[in-house]
Amino acid sequence: MKRNILFSVLFLLGIMLCSNGAVAQEFPKKAYGSVTEERARNIVGFLANDRLEGRDAGTRGGDLAAEYIVSLLKEWGVEPFLEGGYYQHFQAAKNGNSWVTEADFDISGIIAGGCENRFMKNILAAIPGKEEGYVIVGAHYDHLGVDPSLAGDTCFNGADDNASGVSAVLQIARAIKMSGKQPRRTIIFALWDGEEKGLLGSRYFVKKCSFLSEVSAYMNFDMVGRDPAGKPGHLSYMYSAGNPLFGEWLKSDVKERGFCFIPFYNASENLIGGSDNTPFARKNVPIVWYHTEGHPDYHRPSDSADKINYRKLTDITRAALLCVWRLANVGSY
Ligand SMILES: [Zn+2]
Repeated sequence: MKRNILFSVLFLLGIMLCSNGAVAQEFPKKAYGSVTEERARNIVGFLANDRLEGRDAGTRGGDLAAEYIVSLLKEWGVEPFLEGGYYQHFQAAKNGNSWVTEADFDISGIIAGGCENRFMKNILAAIPGKEEGYVIVGAHYDHLGVDPSLAGDTCFNGADDNASGVSAVLQIARAIKMSGKQPRRTIIFALWDGEEKGLLGSRYFVKKCSFLSEVSAYMNFDMVGRDPAGKPGHLSYMYSAGNPLFGEWLKSDVKERGFCFIPFYNASENLIGGSDNTPFARKNVPIVWYHTEGHPDYHRPSDSADKINYRKLTDITRAALLCVWRLANVGSY
């Protein structure tokens, strides 16, 4: 009898450990600690350097940024998602005042007509899961380029927008890879191109994606490195209202880990607008979105790497890592 009780207790304990709460705790400490302020500084510093010419989509600066990102993924052993390599190439054209891609309609006609067009590329890497299903973690790597008509500084460095988000996605990919643990669902790491011209990369991906119904969640980073005026530590944590667990997870991690950011929880039915979450939200994919809000340097050459709060960026990345691990492993949410 006593033995049976002992077995029952052990059985219950096993169930509890496998439930939502324990999934994040079981993520290896060493891999969690591998997300560092120093690496965030290096990645943002490189991408926001004047030599990258503002990373305008389809230009030399954008290509340099893409090559740098791919070189890191390769170095860390994070494999390409697509068979042909890390890049998902697409062509975009300026149709009147707005940009469109070849996934929107056949743009060969307007290109033949002489409109401006460029070749752009998303970067897609993945850590394959044990089972079916996907989770996507994304941030755009393009920015506004250079404006020679400006007096003084002409280069839009885009440190917060969105080198900060790229550093978060890359550090999460590295940490999960180095944990040596295989997630249940495949995790796709996406660095989008052409966001500033109308979410071109993420829109292209969603239109071409043949497995969207198997995507359990999309996590977005866009501007996660600054402190808005009068609100030090502020983090807007936006998530789909249909998934209240997304809020509960962060609340429990904040309690346990004592991050330096102050989250403002914003559960919304409608996470359309603002960034690359939009095409996913339109298709009813559950969303988690980290954003530290606007500032006077937004879309100005003064959005530079020295103004980033790296400690905060690192803590947001660590919190998001725990969230990704749950998104990839928790049975349902
Ligand atoms: Zn942005």
